[in-house]
Amino acid sequence: MRTPFVAGNWKMNKTVAEARELVSVMGKELAKVPNVEKVLCPPFMSLLAVANLLGGTDLGLGAQNMHWEDKGAYTGETAPGMIKEFCKYVILGHSERRTYFGETDETVNKKVLAAQKHGLTPIVCVGETLAENEAGKTAEVVRRQTLEGLKGVDPAFATQIVVAYEPVWAIGTGRASSADNAESVHRDVVRAALKDLFGSETAEAIRILYGGSVTGANAADYFNQPNIDGALVGGASLKSDDFIAIARAASK
Ligand code: PEP
Repeated sequence: MRTPFVAGNWKMNKTVAEARELVSVMGKELAKVPNVEKVLCPPFMSLLAVANLLGGTDLGLGAQNMHWEDKGAYTGETAPGMIKEFCKYVILGHSERRTYFGETDETVNKKVLAAQKHGLTPIVCVGETLAENEAGKTAEVVRRQTLEGLKGVDPAFATQIVVAYEPVWAIGTGRASSADNAESVHRDVVRAALKDLFGSETAEAIRILYGGSVTGANAADYFNQPNIDGALVGGASLKSDDFIAIARAASK
């Protein structure tokens, strides 16, 4: 049995004061939702403030990115050990990082291996662009990103990894993938690639999230699918009622 997993990616939204406000509004109710791993991923500036508010709850904290090196001359970057001080989780390879900041399968892989080294749980994002989707390349792209991104991972660590299938055309667009389509990519592409990497038993233990315009209204459709183990949520994670509704849907 895979424990359902719901993570909120706040992207570049909320000042520290606003982050405190959002957590104070949604934290208590969210923490009451049973049997779901629930994670908030605010911007770096707010990690400390949010960490202080989450103490004593079962809510987890994640960063939205990290560098793979332990330290050094990498202006503006954040090292795994710095993230580990406050966070258990880190989002890696989000399509916005791939699109705007030049992340590649190779750099995502370096980051995944750094997460392994530091005992952070990576939420590794994969997903095809609209052009790739329309060209019928979804399976090829998602398989490649999964295999390359997780190359060299120790099978003993692999069960801690969370993979998020996020079709780029569905992120922030309101044009969510159908649950059937997401399920078939999760089952036939992502989990199949995980089996090739780590074997069946380990692959079956890895959570695969869907991400792309998930809301409180459509979340249950995804979570009813056998290979959709939760959601990586952008816009709706900034709305208290919506994010709590998504967590509750995952809990059923
Ligand atoms: C995301 O940021 O990973 C995401 C899926 O965004 P949204 O839920 O807004 O589509």
